[in-house]
Amino acid sequence: MDNWILKGAKNLVNELGAVSITSPSQVKVKVSHLLMTDFDKLVFDGTVETNYPRILGRAAVGIVTETGDDCYGLEKGTRVYLNPTRACGECFQCKTGKPKDCSAVLTAGKDFDGFMRDFAVCEYGDVAPLPDSVDDFHALCIETVAIAENIYDKLQLSAGQKVAVVGADFTGNILAQVLQYHKVIPIIIDNSPANLERAKKCGIFFAFSADDDLERNVLDATSGELCSAAVFCASSKLPVSVTTRLVSEGKTVVLGFTSTSDSVIEVRDILRKNITLTGVSTAYDYTDAVINMLVHNAVNTDYFEKKVLTEYDPAELLANPETFKAGRMTILKMII
Ligand SMILES: [Zn+2]
Repeated sequence: MDNWILKGAKNLVNELGAVSITSPSQVKVKVSHLLMTDFDKLVFDGTVETNYPRILGRAAVGIVTETGDDCYGLEKGTRVYLNPTRACGECFQCKTGKPKDCSAVLTAGKDFDGFMRDFAVCEYGDVAPLPDSVDDFHALCIETVAIAENIYDKLQLSAGQKVAVVGADFTGNILAQVLQYHKVIPIIIDNSPANLERAKKCGIFFAFSADDDLERNVLDATSGELCSAAVFCASSKLPVSVTTRLVSEGKTVVLGFTSTSDSVIEVRDILRKNITLTGVSTAYDYTDAVINMLVHNAVNTDYFEKKVLTEYDPAELLANPETFKAGRMTILKMII
């Protein structure tokens, strides 16, 4: 039985819980696989605030077990991805019929109950059917791919331009692959040889250490022009100032994904180079587009180590840094 409720910081308990459909537009889903994310850890330890009690779990797939009468395109047995974000329904954009532009997107496991439980009930529009060609491992990466895609959209680059991706762990690796899918050329930067090696296996040609030669290497890779943009993957341990050093005048620097650090950025470089700075941590309404990308093999997760657990103590896993080791996907397999 799984129904993991966070009662306070680091106070996670498994309690019996039952959910049932209450409207014809809802579906009931048996959660089958849940990816442990950095975000779950931040909510668990209280770094990211939530209202208790709260069920954790942001990245999950499952099987539809029951549908209301008005659920289109879904039937019992359909394998689905559970959307981790929802429009708030209360902001100006939501109230004027533009929920896609919601300014206060809600996130599973923080603003509403997440998926670390046997069954979830939600609106049928909040689940996405998965084609057979998108396996569960790729499906669990959908939101990361979606944020990467959102970053790509924000950058408005054209084919052949070069982008520095600072941080080559899970998020940086996926972002580099998404950029490459769009024919933008990533230059991935990390101090972990294993992360750089993995990036190369995933087809990333430029992969550099953040050492004394970095600027020279980037100048060589860009014919002396530096990068057209840079993205700092917030889980990276590198200084944010690496990003501003690697872009040319008037370009954009994105701070992307979920922050686990209190990194500081140097104002001097931003002003001197007239840099535009922007943050991207969510990607509401990208799910269908990303599933289509995955059908077309936009992202390869084969080189991530997958730890699939059938017996687990989520509290112990959330407290253990090994769970979130770079390049590892820790997955709870929840089907009984
Ligand atoms: Zn809204």
